[in-house]
Amino acid sequence: MRRIAILGATGSIGASAIDVIARHPQRFRVTALTAHRDVEGLARACETFRPELAVIADPTLIEALRTHVAAMGLDIRVEAGREALIEAASGSHCDTVIAAIVGAAGLEATLAAAAAGKRILLANKEAIVMAGPLLQRALTDGGGELLPVDSEHNALFQCLPTNRTDLAGGGVQRLLLTASGGPFRGKTREQLADITPEQACAHPNWSMGRKISVDSATLMNKGLEVIEAHFLFGAPIDMIEVVVHPQSTVHSLVQYIDGSVLAQLGNPDMRTAIAHALAWPDRIDAGVAPLDLISLARLDFEPADRDTFRCLDLAYTALRKGESAPAVMNAANEDAVAAFLDGRLSFLGISEVVERCMEAVPLRPIESLEAVLDIDLTARRHAQRIIAAVGA
Ligand code: NAD
Ligand code: MG
Repeated sequence: MRRIAILGATGSIGASAIDVIARHPQRFRVTALTAHRDVEGLARACETFRPELAVIADPTLIEALRTHVAAMGLDIRVEAGREALIEAASGSHCDTVIAAIVGAAGLEATLAAAAAGKRILLANKEAIVMAGPLLQRALTDGGGELLPVDSEHNALFQCLPTNRTDLAGGGVQRLLLTASGGPFRGKTREQLADITPEQACAHPNWSMGRKISVDSATLMNKGLEVIEAHFLFGAPIDMIEVVVHPQSTVHSLVQYIDGSVLAQLGNPDMRTAIAHALAWPDRIDAGVAPLDLISLARLDFEPADRDTFRCLDLAYTALRKGESAPAVMNAANEDAVAAFLDGRLSFLGISEVVERCMEAVPLRPIESLEAVLDIDLTARRHAQRIIAAVGA
């Protein structure tokens, strides 16, 4: 029986994970659930799974959560704040952690899970982008393992040779990350000038949280995923390519030196990747409809438009620069996306803020959690100044 902590249980990935887990009560037991501010959503999940520990990240909401949980007659320890989140991720109650918090807020708990030797199902791509080398070190020292839940990386994981420590030795030539192209594929920069948050969040194929939906519209999501692939699989930058595939059926591909290309296909439903990582190396029912190739009829591929969607290029630049550049890029992007969602920054302003912030903040090594958090804070201070100057 796997004992599971879900960090970010009230989000889009959290909901998909809950759906898969609830299908297999004989295999999985949920021992901890966390959320940021959604007290009711967290209480509902507690009612379903009756975990040992429930954590609300915002400490001002602890009494509200206690009241909800008590009203349901549940005997669950309720905690709040940063330390409690770390305990949910690293305590002896669990052996598996679903890292589904959005953004830099998930870094500390994910690192704690790695150091405590947990199996981590990683959705929180920002954590590995900010602190890839630290996460790797924590996994090695703690004896934990990382399984990708991001659909592209889960697809690559399924198509790579079992011994992934040396990609070139395994005959791997290229990792091809597919991108849907987002809701604005084919548009020019001029056409993107007046985009609203509602338009940016209306993804053609996937239903997701608002931050990643905006990232998909700017192609920053694919940029983050290039960096994620680099750290997850030890792939050199030149080995990682992005190809736009509007149907989101091929979730990514691995090209080998003998001319073979292996791909993983499926309906665009995150439950497949979550079920794969939950049961690995077994396979379990994910509740996902089988792929109907006949009604699908065709699969299209095209190059990414990196001039219009600058963020993808910025991510390659950050990876090439190395050290703190990906963390700075991530922090600037998080603040720029939040400002866009609040109406304080235009859609095209997002890449401008990220680019200017990457130019302004000097490179530093990623040597400790404190260093990364400090880099994150510095980058956000710069980003806020640039946002105020660029505006909506
Ligand atoms: P979401 O906004 O729907 O949910 C985020 C979750 O994190 C919520 O449970 C929220 O309560 C929690 N959270 C937010 N801020 C927090 C904070 N400061 N402290 C503690 N908890 C906090 O996001 P999502 O779409 O589920 O995405 C989660 C992560 O998974 C992101 O990193 C995203 O890039 C990644 N991801 C998502 C999808 C998808 O289909 N949604 C696909 C691939 C990867
Ligand atoms: Mg993805």
